[in-house]
Order: sequence, then structure tokens, then C-alpha cells
Amino acid sequence: MEERKAFGWAARDTSGFLSPFSFNLRKMGSEDVVLKVLYCGVDHTDLHQMRNEIHSTNYPLVPGHEVVGEVVELGSEVKKFRVGDIVGVGCIVGSCGECLYCQSNMEQYCPKTIFTMNDTYKDGSLTRGGFSSAMVVHQRFVVRIPEKLAPEQAAPLLCAGVTAYSPLKQFMGSDRVVRGGILGLGGVGHLGVIIAKAMGHHVTVISSSNKKREEALEILGADAFIVGSNEAEMEGAASSLDYILDTVPALHPLHSYLSLLKVDGKLIIVAAVPQPLQFDAVDIILGKRSISGSFIGSMEETQEILEFWADKDLTTMIEIVKLDYANKAFERMEKNDVRFRFVLDVAGSNLE
Ligand code: NAP
Ligand code: ZN
Repeated sequence: MEERKAFGWAARDTSGFLSPFSFNLRKMGSEDVVLKVLYCGVDHTDLHQMRNEIHSTNYPLVPGHEVVGEVVELGSEVKKFRVGDIVGVGCIVGSCGECLYCQSNMEQYCPKTIFTMNDTYKDGSLTRGGFSSAMVVHQRFVVRIPEKLAPEQAAPLLCAGVTAYSPLKQFMGSDRVVRGGILGLGGVGHLGVIIAKAMGHHVTVISSSNKKREEALEILGADAFIVGSNEAEMEGAASSLDYILDTVPALHPLHSYLSLLKVDGKLIIVAAVPQPLQFDAVDIILGKRSISGSFIGSMEETQEILEFWADKDLTTMIEIVKLDYANKAFERMEKNDVRFRFVLDVAGSNLE
């Protein structure tokens, strides 16, 4: 079979600097879908991986795991999609299909999960993400983008959106007003605010500075905004929250944030902080608080958040750029200078 070539951008070493790179796509199987990449979101995890901050990065690394594409070819046994469909791919492109987690719509926790980038696929090929012209993905790991949703709007939902949605779902449908905190107002955090508000929660943003106060309150619709280093504001909010979704990707002390939780409150960590986090035992003992983690969401939840977004007419706040701006985009993301997510216009970039 003729090999399909793809053109993308890759990081070559721990500097994480991206440059053009071409490669052969893996061979298509009967249940695979070939997509032409249209848009791809820029997530902080891409940067962690490009710099080898999480686990061993295989260079050249083609990042990108919030991929929206158009189906251009189908394996003989694919019934779920048609050529021309607009579809999405998130963080994972494979799992064992047989374990308890795979059988119960929790495949993101399968021990044999295959990540969209920087992993080895079943045929031995390296997985490469959406900073490239095309991808081959098994149909189980492809979701449908609702017609009502613009493809660029859908991109951040495929990782950041479902990462906030999956753990917040446990608070949906409560008969009292749930008081939630969103710690860190970046890509994941801004979607967390929008989702929590759409679920009817009272939402407090906990940020590292005052710079995003107005946007948080007036555009995203948060109910309150506090700065983590402002003692008076933190004290004013002590013991007031049912949960905090922690999205801060750098080392931060948990002590002061735990004090914002009510009795039985939950700190839900989704940020992949490269260093060990610390807290005092009494911070959780007194107050019966718990600290938990959450990893993206299932394929079912990924489809759900897309439908949720379309049904409720929600809008992601994104800045669309071309691939030759990707290095700058990461630089700005690191400097906390993006409102609130970059989305790469991959199809509109000059790749060859
Ligand atoms: P992001 O866009 O860079 O946002 C992070 C936010 O954290 C910033 O906007 C900033 O908000 C705050 N922050 C405070 N101190 C910071 C510091 N020293 N450096 C950078 N940011 C700081 O990142 P993201 O894409 O939302 O990702 C957030 C984290 O979640 C990353 O660690 C990523 O790897 C992880 N993640 C995990 C999952 C999962 O499945 N668990 C999925 C997606 C992403 P303020 O200005 O409000 O302080
Ligand atoms: Zn499994």
C-alpha cells in the first residue's frame, strides 16, 4: 500500500523549539479513519512533553492533542463516519479494549492507553499529534463535532474542555447551589469557569494576579475573583468552597488553597505539575477534605462535552494563529499572555 506522507512541526530536543518536519503516517487498518487536520488546540501538556518534563519524550515530537479534522478516507469496516464528516481526536488514540476500564467507558484509565503523541502505536510506529497535516486514528477514538459548533471552537474541548467537564460532572444536578473554585485561569481554567457556570454553580476564580479579573467576571461570568497571594481576599473566602479545580502547571503550595474548602470539600488536581506538591496533614484532617486527581475524560464524555457546548450555545475564548506562530504561542502561553487558548489553523498554514 502506498505510504501517506504528512507535513507538520516537531520539537527536536529539550529546548522544545518547533520546526518543520515530514513523516509517513502509519498504515491504515480496516477500522481506521484518515483525517485532514483543520485546527489543533495548544495545551500546556504539549509544552511539558516538548521539553521532556513529564516522561521520556521521543524526539522528533509532533505535539497536538486537541485535533479537529475532516474525514478524507475510511477503513472498510468503519460505519460510524463518512468522508467529509468533521471529527475530533483528543489525548488518546488507543487502549486494550478488554479491561474493566475499557468495558465501562473509562478507557482513559486503561493501563494500555496509547497517547496521541509521544507514544508507540500497536504496529510499533510512534504516535504524532495534530501539529501536522493529517492523522490516522482508530474510529473508537474519534468523536463527532456537532454541526452547530464551529470546528475551531470545538478544538479546546477535546482535551481542556473534557478535563474540566469530567470531574465537575459529579456536582451536576445538586439540589443546592454548589460553590466551586477554579484555580488558574488558562486554557483548562477558562473552560472550567464556563462549564461550572453552565452547571449552575457559584464560581470563584483564584488567580495569581489581578490581570484577568475583569474578563473572569464580565466575560466568563464568574461570580467572584480572588488573588491567591492576597491574604485578605483568601481569608474572606475561607471554608467556602465545595471543590477547587486546580489547573496551575507550576509548583504551588496547597496549604492556602485547601483552607478555602468547606468540610468534605475536594481539591481536584488536573495540572501535571513537574515537581512534587506539598500540603500539611492537618489541612485535610481538620475539615475532612480530600485531594484527588482526574485525567481528561472518556470518549463518551468527550462526545458529551461537545453536545453540552452546542446545546447551551457556549463559546470558547480562543486566539487563532498559524503553525509558524507556534513557538511564539508557547512563549506567550508560558508568560501567561493568552486569552485563553491558542488554536492553530493547521489547514490554513503553509506546511510543505
Ligand atoms: P495554561 O493555559 O498555561 O494555564 C495555566 C494557568 O495557571 C495560567 O493561565 C495561570 O492562570 C495559572 N498559573 C499560575 N502560576 C503559573 C505559573 N507559574 N506558570 C504558568 N501558569 C501559572 O495551561 P493549561 O493548558 O490550562 O493546562 C494547565 C495544566 O493542566 C497543565 O499542567 C496541563 O499539563 C494540565 N492538563 C491536564 C490534563 C488532565 O487530563 N489532567 C488535561 C489538560 C491539561 P492565572 O493567571 O489565573 O494565575
Ligand atoms: Zn483497557
